[in-house]
Amino acid sequence: MKLLLASSNEGKLAEFRQLLSSFDLLPWPKGAPSMPETGAFFQDNALQKAEGARAWWRAHGPEPVDAVLADDSGLCVDALWGGPGVLSARFAPDLATYAEKNRRLLSMLPGDAPRTARFVCVLACAPLDGPAFTVGAAVEGSLAPEPRGNGGFGYDPIFIPDGHDSTFGELPSGVKHTLSHRARACALLRSRLQG
Ligand code: IMP
Repeated sequence: MKLLLASSNEGKLAEFRQLLSSFDLLPWPKGAPSMPETGAFFQDNALQKAEGARAWWRAHGPEPVDAVLADDSGLCVDALWGGPGVLSARFAPDLATYAEKNRRLLSMLPGDAPRTARFVCVLACAPLDGPAFTVGAAVEGSLAPEPRGNGGFGYDPIFIPDGHDSTFGELPSGVKHTLSHRARACALLRSRLQG
């Protein structure tokens, strides 16, 4: 089954290649427009991206695919009332790197605030010949006192999944892929698509 991934995020693409290795995964073409994400919820944005990309692919795609896949994900911090949440990719636009964004995010937490947080991932799958659907999952954890580790991408260096002492940035990618929000959502997608 051939899936087109409607995302230009290299970090996500690298993870999907491992998590969905039983599918033929096509990256979003360089130079193709990025899809708007204006919704209030992860699910709205995932569907908006998958359905927008499907429409674009129908008009411009150079080869047939079975379905278009989009991921909307983010880090929800309890002490920030769930933020940055759906705005995770747009948090602190004045800062260029995630090293800086991670430090900014940690600095926003009052010293005595609870450090609990979760990563959330909603996947929308838009088959070329049928209605789109979504699956979603989360991984619970807490925020590290400071960024640690160079693995993964985005907020990985500040997130410690429950049951571990290391951040996603420190843990081997194989460990992240057994318990992450994206790994869990991909498992649901695989069982939906493969029965
Ligand atoms: P969007 O889904 O394109 O809106 O972007 C999601 C953003 O959330 C990413 O750009 C990252 O900043 C963050 N994010 C989502 N999943 C992960 C993850 O697995 N590790 C680290 N950061 C993530």
